[in-house]
Amino acid sequence: MTLAVVLFTQDLRLHDNPALHAACAAADQVVPLFVTDPAIAAAGFDAPNRRAFLAGCLADLDASLRRIGGRLLVREGDSAQRTAQLAAELGAVSVHVAAGVSGYARRREERLRAALGDRLRVHDGSLTAVPPGAVTPAGRDHYAVFTPYHRAWQRAGRRSPLPAPRAVNTPTGLLGAEVVAVEPTARSLPEPGEGAARRAWRRWHSAQYAQLHDDLAADGTSHLSPYLHFGCLSANELVHLAERRGGPGAEAFVRQLVWRDFHHQVLSARPAAAHADYRTRNDSWRTDEAELAAWQQGRTGFPIIDAGMRQLVETGWMHNRARLLTASFLAKSLYLDWRLGARHFLAHLVDGDLANNQLNWQWVAGTGTDTRPNRVLNPLVQADRYDPDGAYVRRWVPELAALPGREIHRPWRSHDRPADYPDPLIAPESTGVRFRAARGIAKDGN
Ligand code: FAD
Repeated sequence: MTLAVVLFTQDLRLHDNPALHAACAAADQVVPLFVTDPAIAAAGFDAPNRRAFLAGCLADLDASLRRIGGRLLVREGDSAQRTAQLAAELGAVSVHVAAGVSGYARRREERLRAALGDRLRVHDGSLTAVPPGAVTPAGRDHYAVFTPYHRAWQRAGRRSPLPAPRAVNTPTGLLGAEVVAVEPTARSLPEPGEGAARRAWRRWHSAQYAQLHDDLAADGTSHLSPYLHFGCLSANELVHLAERRGGPGAEAFVRQLVWRDFHHQVLSARPAAAHADYRTRNDSWRTDEAELAAWQQGRTGFPIIDAGMRQLVETGWMHNRARLLTASFLAKSLYLDWRLGARHFLAHLVDGDLANNQLNWQWVAGTGTDTRPNRVLNPLVQADRYDPDGAYVRRWVPELAALPGREIHRPWRSHDRPADYPDPLIAPESTGVRFRAARGIAKDGN
């Protein structure tokens, strides 16, 4: 009787799971394992919204495994050490894990390899549709610009999605812990787990996505990001499903998944970009606790910014256009360090993801991969364009709801402005002034 261990990380699913699939093919018995590692909490990454969602995903994974003869073993401690220890106890012939892109995942892999040698099998193409490093420009280890990456990605082959295993034979009598669920800080979270993820994909209609994905009030994006972050859905399978649906909406949706792959291949090649400027412009960011707090609390006096920040805290999610605007406001209008903003996002986002969050923040701050690093998003121009009737602001900043139409975006001009809504933190015509002065550049923005 042979036995293999599969260490689940950001691939909490049965469908299209290369590590699980290979473990089932490699041995008669399979021990599915998840390790809650205190290092994640010590790094400040274990935010209540994600921990609550994760607990639900693990419960769902355990239930799905039990339906086919398996079960999920949860242990606590150093992930590499616990896994190697279990493999030794059980005499595992192999240990399977999805390739990760963060510095933490890399170190885990190195330590597992040191302990297990060639019994460790690391599976590419689990977190992303195209594995990091599978396409590279001549002479470089990753793409630094999205458009050529997108072209290369479209030419790259992709594997067919793997079916969910019909049976997983897990030995009985193994002791494991429970993942302790915590109270989320958001007032409600999406339903966790693979089943919910697959239902969310089937329910979501992508037909209008190309027209509506930037419309803040329409809220027409898929909301699949938490499921992609925890791997309840495979990006590879989603690309296949979207291509099968076809049409401009599905095409635009796949393009966003390519952005996800793009950021993952950047982080995989440069793990330090999680905290250090990818392309430094030697910024001397300002420090201002009061401005940072106003931004975090959604009290900047710019309704479109405050709406985004309140959506984040109340729901653990924010519309992509609002993420762009609020991030640009922090880094470019207030000229505060992008890392402070990225940390606040990670403290709340249920989809908070090292590659997507840090590299999007760097893109916005002009320290990352944007080919126009000096552009400043003007919150008023953007509010008129992407929330023309003010419906998004009305939803999240209810004290302004009585202001008609787009007047809501400029409450300082209105006689009916409520007394408890703050004055703008900076002069409305001066967004971008601090940033341009600090970098010594002329106007380049919208
Ligand atoms: P859809 O529009 O339906 O897109 C489908 C999927 O494509 C998303 O679920 C996501 O996985 C991927 N995607 C979409 N846009 C991007 C993008 N710009 N970069 C990378 N992947 C993308 N996304 C996260 O998953 N986690 C984060 O922590 C995160 N932080 C961000 C921080 C900033 C400052 C910005 C500007 C963007 C951030 N994004 C992040 C990207 C994007 O905003 C979210 O993925 C998207 O809003 C999630 O909603 P959705 O699933 O409805 O997206």
